Amino acid sequence: MTEHLPTQAAGRRTALIVGAGIAGLATALFLHRIGWHSIILERAPARRSGGYLVAFFGIGYDAAERLGILAELRQRNLDPFQLRYVKADGTHHFSVPSSAIRDLIGPRQLTLLRGDLEEVLHHAVRDHADIRHGTTVESVTQTEDTVAAHLSDGTVVEADLLVGADGLHSQVRRLVFGPEEEFRVDLNHIVTAFTLDRHPAQIPPQTSTTLTTIGHTVTVTSLGPHRTAAFLVHRTTTPAADLAKGPAVAVDDAFADLAWILPDLRAHLRQAGSAYFDSVSQIVLDRWSIGRVVLVGDAAWCVTLFGGYGASLAVGGADLLASALDHPATDISTALRAWESRLRPTVLRRQQIGRRNTAAHAPANRLRLATRNLVMRLAALPPTRHLLRRHLDLHPDD
Ligand SMILES: Cc1cc2nc3c(=O)[nH]c(=O)nc-3n(C[C@H](O)[C@H](O)[C@H](O)COP(=O)(O)OP(=O)(O)OC[C@H]3O[C@@H](n4cnc5c(N)ncnc54)[C@H](O)[C@@H]3O)c2cc1C
Repeated sequence: MTEHLPTQAAGRRTALIVGAGIAGLATALFLHRIGWHSIILERAPARRSGGYLVAFFGIGYDAAERLGILAELRQRNLDPFQLRYVKADGTHHFSVPSSAIRDLIGPRQLTLLRGDLEEVLHHAVRDHADIRHGTTVESVTQTEDTVAAHLSDGTVVEADLLVGADGLHSQVRRLVFGPEEEFRVDLNHIVTAFTLDRHPAQIPPQTSTTLTTIGHTVTVTSLGPHRTAAFLVHRTTTPAADLAKGPAVAVDDAFADLAWILPDLRAHLRQAGSAYFDSVSQIVLDRWSIGRVVLVGDAAWCVTLFGGYGASLAVGGADLLASALDHPATDISTALRAWESRLRPTVLRRQQIGRRNTAAHAPANRLRLATRNLVMRLAALPPTRHLLRRHLDLHPDD
């Protein structure tokens, strides 16, 4: 059965968005503001929560302000944290005060759980879009005038635009652009991130405490008396083999020699099992749209956690996409190309920063570890702070 969206008949433009993560929800919201109607397909049976911490600033923050969701996001802001660095035995090494971090990034930034950002976007969009959980797209065909998607529930939906917002391992990208292997560049690290419903004794309140050794980083952030975020990165030459082990075994194997809080985190993973667990990989495509199909967010450009700007790009990119489409006289593929040329330089710069930052997250040798420590210590000193800000591109001139 082919579903013609009722709004098509009423002359409204329509989008089928695959993925209800940050990019998909933000795209639906910005399209609603220019009068479009969206259906959002989400593979997961229910909305995700928790996740990991994201720093949210730059074009994402500006776009959230335009959406009118900043006040709600501020209520969920988890800053400020003191950054503490510990030695392998857990003893204090050095600290960077929260005031230094605020000075570095400036006042227009938030630290949010990914799930909280998604929840605020979801609340803002749920009355304006048709969100279908437990559904995905199985095939796509397009003509000059329309794009049709066959869905996993057996229906066919026709729309003016199909948006692939389905993340690093995008199905839309696979169906329309080609196999993932052609576009995925592995940075040879694995990330495991999860939250605990308690506060481990080793982590002082209002701190984000990090242990970095050669090839490993573990950061544990206190989010209050009953919640803690843990984030582990390890270097590997065989990411696919590590992923095949699953989070509990991969973390057991990679972090076996580390003490401090590791036995506790490893036990949690063995019991609870649920975690964000994936390779750190960028997506490099020479175009983000083909006809009426466009990729956004991690599906299009994944800059990685090392790029530190993926959530901001997902929201800011959605804002720019809607601006480009907000000209009824311009055809859709021309608007998509204009959007891409506006956003691509920012994405390329962030991907470059992501590749450069791999050395800081899980340094390959002692020299790189010492350099990372020196850079972080400079952040604590006002005279050198501006150098670090420029180095990390924390004030993107977007
Ligand atoms: C540990 C970590 C730390 C990070 N830190 C930061 C940071 O500090 N600052 C920052 O800006 N960014 C950060 N990022 C990056 C940021 O989280 C991502 O760039 C952002 O979440 C991407 O959003 P997305 O919506 O494009 O993709 P995703 O979050 O991957 O969402 C994709 C959605 O599509 C759904 N989906 C997948 N496949 C299908 C399918 N076939 N059909 C239907 N639905 C599907 C998924 O279930 C999901 O809901 C970090 C990432 C990680 C992993």
